[in-house]
Amino acid sequence: MEHKILIIDDDQSQLHLLKAGLAKRGYNVTTLSNPSDTLEHMAANKPDVVLVDLMMPETDGFAVMKNIKSQPEFADVKIIVLSSKSFAHDESRALSLGANLYITKPVPFEVLKEKIDRIVSNTVVVKCWGARGTYPTPQAEYLKYGGNTPCFSVEFSKGETFIFDAGTGIINLGNSLASEKRKLKLNLLISHPHWDHIQGFPFFKPAFMQGNEIAVYGSAHGDISLLEVISGQMESIYFPITIREFASRLYFKEIREASQTVDGISVKTILLNHPGNTLGFRLTDNSGKSVAYITDNELPPKEMGGMDQFFRDKLVTFLKGVDLLIHDTTYFDEEYKSHVGWGHSPVSEVLGLARDAGAKSLCIFHHDPAHTDAMMDEMDAFAKKFVADNKLAMTICTATEQTVFRI
Ligand SMILES: [Zn+2]
Ligand SMILES: [Zn+2]
Repeated sequence: MEHKILIIDDDQSQLHLLKAGLAKRGYNVTTLSNPSDTLEHMAANKPDVVLVDLMMPETDGFAVMKNIKSQPEFADVKIIVLSSKSFAHDESRALSLGANLYITKPVPFEVLKEKIDRIVSNTVVVKCWGARGTYPTPQAEYLKYGGNTPCFSVEFSKGETFIFDAGTGIINLGNSLASEKRKLKLNLLISHPHWDHIQGFPFFKPAFMQGNEIAVYGSAHGDISLLEVISGQMESIYFPITIREFASRLYFKEIREASQTVDGISVKTILLNHPGNTLGFRLTDNSGKSVAYITDNELPPKEMGGMDQFFRDKLVTFLKGVDLLIHDTTYFDEEYKSHVGWGHSPVSEVLGLARDAGAKSLCIFHHDPAHTDAMMDEMDAFAKKFVADNKLAMTICTATEQTVFRI
């Protein structure tokens, strides 16, 4: 469907540029240079999205937003503020007045299109930046699924951004975020501090950039605080730059099993079956869209002692009806037999868990470093056959670097 966009800006050259760029990308675009005509124009043209500038000579963007939001007939129209001002105060005021998103100019058209589409369809975008478990595998036979260690980004419709883990995959994510040249507010959720889950953090570009805000969530380990857990790998004998040299505002928030709201998103955590304190996460937005990240986690089959029933039931309840379940699936069933107690799962047990929880999609993840692309194709086919044989509605997607899931 062709979405209708109204752009309100007093700057004619901006209007012209934006109109041409967005029309070229398939939108039906109308423009308005005099904001006092907004309601009349909207009644006649019925836009899906309004892009509004903040600084205009007679009426500012805040007043325009208030005006639109006072009309019940425009309740579903999405409002995006497009401003050259990057003050946190302006952004929070715009969002409190009902803006769906605040974007700082200049912004590349492709990025703007991605954001508009996400807002209009209320889509949650999950992207894999690292699918490999244990250690990076940069060789040719791993190129299809990728060699970077665990990292996923989750962006909700208003731009609320969460990151699962900081394996080497977070380096490419950081480069991508930094290239957007905007102030970033990020929530980094650390499952546990095994090296493959934190080793990319010292190279995460947004952490070095002033003005960015990064909240790191994870568990303390005995008397070792979360800050020490993460920063220990940056002490001078291991790394030339310490965490104190990061220019961003960095907060460390220790959690265990909990249920809380972060940036309007429900964040639930569960302790997993893995050495040390390992956290699984479930994020849910206001419309009920959800994604769960469960790694590293060992689910032993019945014939090998089985799972503690209390824990399995708790996990099934935690994951009930989740839209996308990203789960540690390190081993083929045969391989698992020689890796009991290593803290990782065989594929059939993960499929059984996803089935029992009624997950709509299962993302097979934390690929064993010995698994070449050909072996991962085999695991993908095995999982898809399980779904077909059991007549399940569940979708299988084996994690591949740069794969985007839309919920
Ligand atoms: Zn791991
Ligand atoms: Zn681990």
